[in-house]
Amino acid sequence: MAGIRRGGAAAVVRALARDAADVVLSRSCAGCGLPGSILCARCAPALKIAPRQRDFEPPLWFGAAYAEPIRSLIIAHKDGGQRALTHALARLLAGAVDAALGHGGLAGPVLLVPVPPHRSSLRRRGRDTVAELSIAASRALPGCSTARLLLRVRETSRNAGRGARERSDQAGAFAARTGGTAARPVILVDDVVTTGATLREGVRALEAAGVRVAAIACVASTPLQGR
Ligand SMILES: [Zn+2]
Repeated sequence: MAGIRRGGAAAVVRALARDAADVVLSRSCAGCGLPGSILCARCAPALKIAPRQRDFEPPLWFGAAYAEPIRSLIIAHKDGGQRALTHALARLLAGAVDAALGHGGLAGPVLLVPVPPHRSSLRRRGRDTVAELSIAASRALPGCSTARLLLRVRETSRNAGRGARERSDQAGAFAARTGGTAARPVILVDDVVTTGATLREGVRALEAAGVRVAAIACVASTPLQGR
């Protein structure tokens, strides 16, 4: 794995210890609940890399449909503390980034910019799961790195409905910093895209700070509806 290339022996030992602890704690598949390992042979094929594009501006690529077992795997990683799933889910994200790079004719080095968590989520989880996925995905892709350029400056509702109401609720949610990013293509990344309102606001904040967003990449996308 990429962590072996980059992190050296100590990092590998830490990663193995962490993954082993997760597996011991889980005892069942995070996708379907089948007793055994954290990812059973029935759910594992859902993680095959087959990125798809969603109608969006800038171009948006996602790794999988937000349906079972992907939905349960993402929730287990995010809210169940199952860090052992980071690399499996990051592969889907890396596939989406790779597709965005190929189709957009983008050359490295490329910066992945994770959508920052709600402060309440960060407090509850004690970790930024989208940044974890972004870092793991960037390690798997030569020339990519992760930069936390977006900051959440205003809390927003996660149940604001759709359409104009949701867009107005997201307005001003983020601010961007731009240090050291000159001339590097930026790809905004998130775990799940639903309506896209959060991503639109992230793009707006980055571009207001002079950062052009070349593409968006997500682990998964909900079915398109009510856009
Ligand atoms: Zn399973």
